[in-house]
Amino acid sequence: MSDAPVYHNSIGGEWLPAADGRISENRDPANGELVGIFPRSGQAEVDRAVAAARQAFDGWRLTPAPKRGEILFRVGELLRERKEDIARQMTREMGKVLVETRGDVQEGIDMAYYMAGEGRRLFGSVVPAELPNKAALAMRDPLGVVACVTPWNFPMAIPSWKVMAALIAGNTVVLKPATDTPLSSLKLVEAFIDAGLPLGVLNLVCGTGDEVGMPLVRHPDVAGISFTGSNDVGRAVNIAAAERLKRVTLELGGKNAIIVMDDADLDLAVEGIVWSAFGTAGQRCTACSRLIAQRGVRAELEQRLAERVSRLRLGHGLDAGTDVGPLINASQRDRVHGYMAVAREEGAHVLVGGEIPTEGDLAKGSFYPPTILTGVTPHMRVAQEEIFGPVLSVIEVATLAEAIAVNNDTRYGLSSAIFTRDVNAAQIAMRDLSTGIVYINAGTIGAEIQLPFGGTRGTGNGHREAGLGALEFFTEWKAIYIDYSGRLQRAQIDS
Ligand code: NAD
Repeated sequence: MSDAPVYHNSIGGEWLPAADGRISENRDPANGELVGIFPRSGQAEVDRAVAAARQAFDGWRLTPAPKRGEILFRVGELLRERKEDIARQMTREMGKVLVETRGDVQEGIDMAYYMAGEGRRLFGSVVPAELPNKAALAMRDPLGVVACVTPWNFPMAIPSWKVMAALIAGNTVVLKPATDTPLSSLKLVEAFIDAGLPLGVLNLVCGTGDEVGMPLVRHPDVAGISFTGSNDVGRAVNIAAAERLKRVTLELGGKNAIIVMDDADLDLAVEGIVWSAFGTAGQRCTACSRLIAQRGVRAELEQRLAERVSRLRLGHGLDAGTDVGPLINASQRDRVHGYMAVAREEGAHVLVGGEIPTEGDLAKGSFYPPTILTGVTPHMRVAQEEIFGPVLSVIEVATLAEAIAVNNDTRYGLSSAIFTRDVNAAQIAMRDLSTGIVYINAGTIGAEIQLPFGGTRGTGNGHREAGLGALEFFTEWKAIYIDYSGRLQRAQIDS
């Protein structure tokens, strides 16, 4: 028998195992150690959680939004107190280094405070009516029960973005965390319970995408689905949700690029590239996977990057000297490694990295070294497909116009960046880079929660998370006309 902690779903305020007793193991990707045992839930738990959320809906909808905000504020305070503990547990279940898991929890804290404030705003609009003695206004209503389905790479930040926006708007929620990272979501739900959230308003159901995710998407009492994950699953979710014309927000993949112009500050650019390409072992939707370098600096950049990258240390994310942790699991590592053969077949070269570590402690985990591919051209598969690992492809271009065209020519449109000292080039880039997020003289990662987050083209379906835009998804507009003339007034007819 293992002495690993056993965790349960949170449904209607009760901690419950799967009714049929099935479990799944949550393991540390750096060494295979068992982190915890979680329920492997199914339709029965989904039905129960949706029913609990439905039952809680009226009470929560009618709770004044400023009071809802006070609970969110308390969640922010609790997460702040628990930040170090949660971050350490997150590194064990997910692999990324401690400084990054602290940042992941910090996003949850930031979002809690931000959405708590929205409890005192949730702006609608009051506009003039066209007839006398008549008022016209628009207010927001919650959707009802919403499902939040989340990936493993930001185990607390992404659930927080979704759940906090949904709750402040008056919805009740069923959260389905990624199968690889249920513990961080459970810690988030615990903070809500301890902050006094009424029972059933937020429910957690752990399990796989097929057994929990899809039944949630199809459930007739789920009004909206907020999904972050891969393009294939996002498409399947959208198609299934369309059967009942449900509202869906999709945040999907990326193929993000950093452009470096000849006039750039190369020291700064190298730091930005290394952080964006190899932070979280490249497993961020905004990770930089293409370096678009102008001809005059391409060779020097490659040389400096190779030198810098070969000094990055792989290891357990809790060890102080570690720069890059493991990938989420062995199959993801093997998938990433598969791209080395693809790159070579298409004529690219591996400048550094490109081999699975086979010795010492690294052999016990799903590690992959930071890797740079050179001689890449814009339409090679490694320049077009999301690899989701620590692999950077270098593409040479001659001009700003070519750099922008290469950046924009993928099926994704999440994040892009340019390093230049030329103010005109920066302005043109801001105007013409067709991604949802653009950075000037910074890498492709590091979004702040008060701005809209999301992408164009295949990165999503046009919605944005974070910022005020998040409330657009989680609310319906209701237009209200108040006639105080005491007579029948006909719009468009009576003048
Ligand atoms: P994934 O699509 O495999 O899983 C995402 C979630 O969907 C998980 O909870 C999973 O269990 C669930 N799921 C799987 N199959 C399902 C199904 N048939 N029906 C319903 N739910 C199902 O993605 P992942 O591997 O966890 O995450 C990596 C992907 O997420 C990458 O493509 C990355 O770019 C993307 N991502 C995007 C953003 C963004 O905001 N654009 C942020 C982070 C990650």
